[in-house]
Formats: sequence, C-alpha cells, structure tokens
Amino acid sequence: MLGGQMGGQLGGPLERGQTAAEALRRVAPGSARVRGVYVHVPFCFHKCHYCDFYSFVDREDRQPAYVHRLLREADAGRAAGVLDGPIETVFVGGGTPTFLRPELLRALLTGLAERLPLQPVTRGPDGRPVAGLEWTVEANPETVTDEVAEILVSSGVNRVSVGVQSFHPAHLKTLERWHDPASVGRAVERLRRAGIRRLNLDLIFGIPGSTLAEWSSDLDRALELGPDHLSCYGLTYEPNTAMTKRLELKQFEACDEDLEAAMYECTLDRLEAAGFEQYEISNFAKPGEACRHNLLYWHNADWWSLGPSGSAHVQGVRWKNVPRLSAWLASESATSPIQDLEKVDEETRAGEILMLGLRLREGLPQSTVDRCCQGPRGAERQAALAAALERGLMERVADRLRFTRAGLLLADEVLAEVV
Ligand code: SF4
Repeated sequence: MLGGQMGGQLGGPLERGQTAAEALRRVAPGSARVRGVYVHVPFCFHKCHYCDFYSFVDREDRQPAYVHRLLREADAGRAAGVLDGPIETVFVGGGTPTFLRPELLRALLTGLAERLPLQPVTRGPDGRPVAGLEWTVEANPETVTDEVAEILVSSGVNRVSVGVQSFHPAHLKTLERWHDPASVGRAVERLRRAGIRRLNLDLIFGIPGSTLAEWSSDLDRALELGPDHLSCYGLTYEPNTAMTKRLELKQFEACDEDLEAAMYECTLDRLEAAGFEQYEISNFAKPGEACRHNLLYWHNADWWSLGPSGSAHVQGVRWKNVPRLSAWLASESATSPIQDLEKVDEETRAGEILMLGLRLREGLPQSTVDRCCQGPRGAERQAALAAALERGLMERVADRLRFTRAGLLLADEVLAEVV
C-alpha cells in the first residue's frame, strides 16, 4: 500500500527494552492531544517487488495473536492517557488489512471502535459523512468480498483506499503485484453497495516499459470508477527491495525521466479537468475529500500508532514500534516495544515543517517559513528557497510560499536542501 503512514527512518540510537509508555514520559504532562491513530497490519498474501513497507507472507498463522496483542495495545494507550480523544482520524494500513480473516478483521475493527474515543460522525441529507471521524482502511482489490465490505461498514469504517497501481496486467507483473485488473471494479462496486462513499485509488506511474498512452488510459479507467480521491505516485526504487535488485541486475531499464515527467504533467491536466484538486504533490481529491489523516502528517500534528513498525509523534517526541512481529508479539509490555526514540530539537522540527508543509499545494505561510529559517541552518535553507524562487520552481501567492507547477516536478530535490 502507499498511503497511511509517512515513511522514513526516525534516527536516534536503539535503546533496548524501550516501550511506547516510556516514550510518553518525555512528553510534558497534559501537552499532548493525539488526533489520529495509525494501525499497522503487516500481513500480505504476496510481497510486491517495489514494496519497502513492513509486510510479509506469514507462514505461522499469527493473525489471531496479532489482533489480540493489538487490542491490548489500544487498551494500554487509553490507560496511559494519550488516547483521550476525540480521535478525528483512524487509518488502518499495512500490509493488507483486508487480508485478515473475516472474523479477525471484524474483531480488530469492532475492538478498536469499542476502545478508542472516536469522534462521532455527522451525516448530510444523502447519508454521506460530512464531519467527524474519518476512518480509512487500505484494501487490496482481490480481498474485497461482500462479507469484507459489510464488516468495514458495520464497524464504522467510512473510507477505503484501494491499491490499484495499474490496470495493465503486464505492468502489474513487472511490479510483482498479484491482482487481476478486473477485480478493481468488482471491489469498488461491492464497497459502494455496502455503503462506503469515500474511495481512494492508489496508482503508480513510471513503471518500466509503460507508455504515456497506457498511463493516460490508467487514469481514464480510474476516473470511470468515480473515486473522490486519487494518489498517483511515481515508482521509486527503495533500497533492499526486489525491484531495486532487478534494476541493478539490468533485468529492465528504469522509466526515462522525461517520460515520467510527461506522465506527471498528464496527471495534473487530466485530474484537474475531471474536477479534482491537487492538495499534495501526489494526492488529488474532489473538493472537501482530502485525506484528513495524511494531512495530520503533513501538518506535523500529533498521532499515535498501534502495531509493529508504526511510527508515532507526540509533542515533538517520536518513535517507531519495533518492525518485527515476533518481538512485538513477545513483548510483555502492554504498550508496544519501540526503537528510534527521539526528542526532536527545534532545528530538526523547523526542517520537517518546511519539508512536509511545502509538499502541500497551498504551501506554507511566509511567516512560518521565516520562523523555520532562524536557526543554525537558517541561512542555508533561505538560500535554497531563494534559488528555487529565482528558478521559477516556487512562488509567493497571497503571502504563502509554494511550488509552481514546474517546481512540483523537482520538489524532492528542493526539499532535500531545506530539511
Ligand atoms: S500489497 Fe504489496 S505494496 Fe501493499 S503492503 Fe503488501 S507487499 Fe507492500
């Protein structure tokens, strides 16, 4: 899957035996107000070659133990006083949450609903949730049966993110992604019939061997399904993935940079014409349908994580739950065992505010940018942003700094200099 949790190593030394409860002791009492919860389900039925998320094919049937441990962790978060709520967003990602056996998926979701102080949902005249809790679950199209769709809706889930990636069998094969493109339409139909109205489709462009016409037809087919949100990512070659190994072995050639840029430009044009607003470099939504959970990350807000490998951030303290199911299950602590515990200093936080906030299409207020450029790295950051303005990659609009359309293509390069 692609959404749900911002990736990246958090840094800081591993101190053995630490738990999330200890991390919280570093937070000033009463200062935290966790607004979102991320739940990581690590199981998949096949490992896609481009994937660097903590996910695997489990040969030991640890799904029941996982659900039991996860709910214990949710109880512990309540007991620690950090999950007092109201929780505005829940994002269950992975892995493939809908690969959990139906009875376990139901136990997980209803158990979370019972334990977490979730914000109530307000519905409009058409029954559509207009305010309150946003609860997203990621799904692989092959796993969405009528039973799974019913479990999601009856548990309170009101948004589903479907991993499509491509509608072309040959490109899915290149990614070692195992699903039949026809299953996407079936999954969407089942979800809608069950009552899910908010749908995201994840797509990947820049797949080796793909053409601009094929990408354009992927966008067409996605739009025909009527989603209110699309995430369109360029394929990246993460270290230690099978895809990167195959590239190094010259089993294929990476997509040409100019072609990938043309695919991105095509995305901007097509989705704008279809009534989508680009609100982040890779994310597009119908008005009012941006993913509020992911916005918490980009706004550097506080969130909690449950499950192995989930990352949490509470009042400038952050950590990562251990990314090993066996260690996570074996821990005697009620909260998760963690690693990479770090108190983020002002200078690091300033860099992250720039790096995350400028990914948003609305950019950042100039006053925030100025504040983030006052520390030891301030002059360097200012110079990088001034150079981007000079090159036409950034612009000031109504006292906000943001990327221009041309700059979006080079945003990663610019942001690497300001972080
Ligand atoms: S479905 Fe594929 S991309 Fe998604 S988490 Fe599993 S292995 Fe990774």
